[in-house]
Amino acid sequence: MKILNLNEGSFPIEMDLNLNSIDVPDVGSLKDTLDIKLKISKLSLNLLKCDGYISAKFIDTCQNCLKDTEVLIDGSVDVTIKDIKELHADSSEQDQTHYQDLEYFNIDNLIEEELALIYPDIVKCDRKCLEKKDPLIEKKNLPFKKIRDLID
Ligand SMILES: [Zn+2]
Repeated sequence: MKILNLNEGSFPIEMDLNLNSIDVPDVGSLKDTLDIKLKISKLSLNLLKCDGYISAKFIDTCQNCLKDTEVLIDGSVDVTIKDIKELHADSSEQDQTHYQDLEYFNIDNLIEEELALIYPDIVKCDRKCLEKKDPLIEKKNLPFKKIRDLID
């Protein structure tokens, strides 16, 4: 865990991180390391900006055939950072804003949030897998299944 005080110090802050684990729900297991390059710049007193990129390899499960599937993450980060105190006062409705205590800024939280955004919603082993007929889904949709449920 890396804590930064973004209210002080000199900007931009440049970081080159390699994490061995990440605490994000609904992602696969991390293979090798999560490589992150970030630059935090100060735009004005309470307005900061973070840009950079996150790249990693995860082993996840294909949502269609349940096969182990490698998920390559290679996404850019471009987010505005504001103090958590401004969360309720902020009416700009900008969804690319990360709110956190600027004095005790936990960089891991930002990385986790960004990874969750970059990570694909649907994991499939190959592009065509979801188009193939899936015996599991077919079984669930058999019309007599419902009738049998009623009889039971
Ligand atoms: Zn598949």
